[in-house]
Amino acid sequence: MECVICRNGTTSAGFDTLSFEKNGHLVVIRNVPGEVCDNCGHFYIDSVAALALQKKAKKAISDGADLEILQYS
Ligand SMILES: [Zn+2]
Repeated sequence: MECVICRNGTTSAGFDTLSFEKNGHLVVIRNVPGEVCDNCGHFYIDSVAALALQKKAKKAISDGADLEILQYS
């Protein structure tokens, strides 16, 4: 699809590392699938992956981790 950030690139399937911070806890999730702009590098996460990520992050935080680094899959 056309990138809505730079309007000058197109996106293709790729991976990125995303992080969530809440109440002093930091959860980093690597190899998140989505679409990456070939021009500006903006990462678009798909909605299914976004939900799965939120679940993983909430679980890690409720388990009491101050810093958790996870793989998406
Ligand atoms: Zn772009």
